[in-house]
Amino acid sequence: MLNIGCHISIAKGFFHAGKEARSIGANTFQFFTRNPRGGKAKALDPQDLGKLQQLMVEEDFARIFAHGSYTMNLASNKQETRDFAKNLLKEDLKRVEAITNCYYIFHPGSHVQQGVEQGIKYIIEALNETHDNNQSTPILLEGMSGKGTEIGGNLKELQQIIEGVEHPERLGICLDTCHLYSAGYDIVDRLEDVLEEIHQAVGMNRLKAIHLNDSKTPFHSNKDRHEVLGEGTIGWEAIERIIRHPKLRNLPFNLETPNDLSGYEREIKKLREAWL
Ligand code: FE
Ligand code: FE
Ligand code: ZN
Repeated sequence: MLNIGCHISIAKGFFHAGKEARSIGANTFQFFTRNPRGGKAKALDPQDLGKLQQLMVEEDFARIFAHGSYTMNLASNKQETRDFAKNLLKEDLKRVEAITNCYYIFHPGSHVQQGVEQGIKYIIEALNETHDNNQSTPILLEGMSGKGTEIGGNLKELQQIIEGVEHPERLGICLDTCHLYSAGYDIVDRLEDVLEEIHQAVGMNRLKAIHLNDSKTPFHSNKDRHEVLGEGTIGWEAIERIIRHPKLRNLPFNLETPNDLSGYEREIKKLREAWL
């Protein structure tokens, strides 16, 4: 079965989010741990989480994904911003530990003119400092489009982070088709070459999830503008080749396309038909 889902709000609880996912044909979903711009996270309700867990077992759900705030910048040039980000990360990791079969995804951050090396150093420090042996939720670094001074537009940067931390066993990566294409990885005409680069950089076994998005901007534009599947520069045929590829087809895919729920439902249905 194709494991496919989309962004779902947890404002009405986790069980509600799970039911919403199921109602549009999804068997995974992604949620923000708190307001995407930061802010306070709601306390978790164990009973609510228990009901979600039961639903996930009954309905054959794949793992689900907590996504960190966009404002969390572990690589900032300001100590204050880095400390704030570290606290968010620490709190998030503690929270998601209560959710069964959940992975945590975050954007590596921006080095803000200090240079990639310094930024990566800070990210590694933060991951080391927030490590807790009692926690087991896998942490996925998301590959980025490389806009501005963003870290993670190059797979080698993700590799450096993974190889630099004290506990690499807990780290993996999540790749976003829009980001890859914008960053200059030609998943439309050279998918095999890109897969080889992933293999060389971090190893295919580190790739734990894919964000499935089309892109509004041209190849290698280093922009981050998601588009509805089939309506962007990547196109439907390339999307189909990606979800069907033997090395990718069993991964969980999540949509972050500009859609409402019914739009997601249509995309999911079309993807399930194409995957068979
Ligand atoms: Fe993301
Ligand atoms: Fe993404
Ligand atoms: Zn994006």
